[in-house]
Amino acid sequence: MRRLSLFALLAVVLAVVLAVPLRAQSTAHEKLAREVYKQLIEINTVDSVGSVTKAVEALAVRFKAAGFPDADIHVLIPTNAPTKGNLVVRYRGRGGVGAPKPLLLLAHLDVVAALRADWPRDPFTLNEENGFFLGRGTSDDKSMASIFATNLLWMKQEGVVPDRDIILALTADEEGGSSNGAHWIATEHKDLIDAEYAINEGGDGALINGKPVTNGVQAAEKVSVNFTFTALNSGGHSSMPRPDNAIYALTKALLKVSEFEFPVVLNPVTTAYLLQSSKAMPDPAVAAAMKAIVANPKDKKANAILAKDAFVHSVLRTTCVATRLAGGHANNALPQTATSNVNCRIEPTSTYEYVKSTLERVVGDTGVKITLIGNALKGVVGAPPSAVPAEFLGAVTAITKKMWGDIPVVPNMSTGATDGRYMREAGIPTFGVSGLFYEGEERNMHGRDEKIRVKSYYDGLAFLDQLVRTLTVKTKM
Ligand SMILES: [Zn+2]
Repeated sequence: MRRLSLFALLAVVLAVVLAVPLRAQSTAHEKLAREVYKQLIEINTVDSVGSVTKAVEALAVRFKAAGFPDADIHVLIPTNAPTKGNLVVRYRGRGGVGAPKPLLLLAHLDVVAALRADWPRDPFTLNEENGFFLGRGTSDDKSMASIFATNLLWMKQEGVVPDRDIILALTADEEGGSSNGAHWIATEHKDLIDAEYAINEGGDGALINGKPVTNGVQAAEKVSVNFTFTALNSGGHSSMPRPDNAIYALTKALLKVSEFEFPVVLNPVTTAYLLQSSKAMPDPAVAAAMKAIVANPKDKKANAILAKDAFVHSVLRTTCVATRLAGGHANNALPQTATSNVNCRIEPTSTYEYVKSTLERVVGDTGVKITLIGNALKGVVGAPPSAVPAEFLGAVTAITKKMWGDIPVVPNMSTGATDGRYMREAGIPTFGVSGLFYEGEERNMHGRDEKIRVKSYYDGLAFLDQLVRTLTVKTKM
């Protein structure tokens, strides 16, 4: 008996600990958000098989029904890509002389492919289980897309008149594909989205043991560039090897790259990232190294400590790494060609020329030729980090404090890429902030069982609602 009751007690304790309470959708605002979210998740917007246009049209119906005039709802479909539609909606502000430029809300509607066979549940159904929303796009990026759309519909219903226009742009092909909507609109329809600055994905909050510890603001991105390394040789019969050999030459060059580390280069965003992160670091040695490297980017000891974390290592500098390898043409012939792809993530104040000439210096006299390939021609390096305006950072910090307590707001630079870079190139400073919090491995966008905490979703809804209102409604009492 005693054993049993102890077991029963343990079971109760465990049940209490493990049960993530289902959060009631208490408000009509939250109900609307869930409805829009569900609608978006359940429209397949995968590049190859889905249609972003369908999602765009479904939302356009909602904006029309909410009373937005037709002239302010733009369904923009590139002629050569009928499934790659984009939506731009303008929420009119008071306007008039001296009205500030609009605020742009940017989110993408396309998602990464998800195969039913790979998932334990249908990726294109909004599932709610154990305190999580699960499904493709629940995190990336239909959470923000549905939140932005809902908040504008909600403001409209409440009759809010902002001091400036608010523009919503929901776009296609952020995840790849032939018709990137953000780039296309910024090039072909800039007048529709021109704004003082934009809010985008790329900035999340971090949880440790369910507790919020930092809230992030993305203000810069690295740029991905590929180089082909090529070694050529006259070749010959493999029975008579010579010291000169295309595969050996390429290997020597790649080993030199593996041993080379680009110098630390900080910009205002990464500097702020290091200083703010140092406040939330559990390891005092890491916290001290973060401060030390800001004081002196050449500090070798600090660099050695920080380099142990692959993300921080990449935040501090340009990185280049071999990602593919090919060579030779027959088992019994000396190789005539050996090639490798070297992928570089260039810090945004750098240039292609600098990176290429640095790599050339590093490989030295190995005879390997380095050529730039891919999107480098678009001139993407140089989209400058966006200096975070005081009004914006102040609002993010105040709302963060109100909602989650005194946790640091950490500006950051993505080591990957978002559509923010196209906006920055078009002269619209862009900041990633969402108020969506994740814990460790939960943050599995692009993966199987993509998910977000239900509480995080509704908190993000409230956070972005308050942020957009703070930045656009400044009615003097
Ligand atoms: Zn995304």
